[in-house]
Amino acid sequence: MNETRVRELIIIGGGPAGYTAALYSARANLEPLVIEGFQWGGQLMITSDVENYPFRVWVGDDEYRAEAVIVSTGATARQLGLASERALHGRGVTYCAVCDAAFYRDKEVVVVGGGDSAMEEAIFLTKFASKVTVLHRRDEFRASPIMFDRARDNDKIEFVTPVVVEEALGAEDGKLTGVRIRNLETDEVSEIPADGLFVAIGHDPTTKLFVDQLDHDEAGYLLTQPGSTATNVEGVFAAGDVVDHVYRQAITAAGMGSMAALDAERWLAAREGRPETALSAPRT
Ligand code: NAP
Repeated sequence: MNETRVRELIIIGGGPAGYTAALYSARANLEPLVIEGFQWGGQLMITSDVENYPFRVWVGDDEYRAEAVIVSTGATARQLGLASERALHGRGVTYCAVCDAAFYRDKEVVVVGGGDSAMEEAIFLTKFASKVTVLHRRDEFRASPIMFDRARDNDKIEFVTPVVVEEALGAEDGKLTGVRIRNLETDEVSEIPADGLFVAIGHDPTTKLFVDQLDHDEAGYLLTQPGSTATNVEGVFAAGDVVDHVYRQAITAAGMGSMAALDAERWLAAREGRPETALSAPRT
């Protein structure tokens, strides 16, 4: 028979937010249990190198019950769904310009997508790349006019529409060499040489498990109370990309993870009638 174990704090999600929450709450002697999925380390593990975070933290299932829970399950970048995209992931195919743009100095790259993310990534990439080609499946853009205009007015950015990417090229060499695209109007197939393929077609928060209990917005991102990581359920806190669809950086997620640990620790202390502790000084 399965044993039911009770923990003071369970953290669901093992990315920067979850690991930071674990670090802080462990220092408060809460002995947190971190439950993580198959991708330990979160989205950091699917980028080529991490250069925009000061350090890395590496941390390592019966029925568990917890007095407090921190949800830090993150979000997943949508993929095009090509086999070649998976094969070249981290070898030219990437999902985060802020993370990887610096690796494409003086190189030619393509960005897929027609939303604000695609425009933002394309504009950001022009600081490094010699040429940025935006590939979008429609002639109309979902991006806000101001973002679209900014991208359109940038001399380094070229738009190609209405096209879909049929293949990421170069799998045989182990490094992206370009993309094969198909024009949806003419059915014409052509190739664009590129060192980088930035897929910017949106993210999905990992919240399926919680949508019936926790308040969330239309896209599924969890809602927290203003100035806090508390959700609508007492004792449940949320941090990182599962909440934040704007900044989405390891360092901002980590910051929110520490906030969630502080909030959870204060909540537990109040509930148990013991004084709050300074997390930086573990209880003895
Ligand atoms: P989004 O608005 O959902 O746009 C996704 C884009 O990718 C759309 O143009 C969509 O095409 C395209 N797309 C989706 N699936 C595709 C597929 N399988 N193949 C090819 N193209 C595909 O996502 P987002 O751009 O990440 O923005 C998400 C939210 O964050 C938005 O509310 C946005 O305003 C906000 N955001 C704001 C800023 C900012 O203000 N600085 C920056 C980034 C994001 P269709 O248009 O044809 O559906």
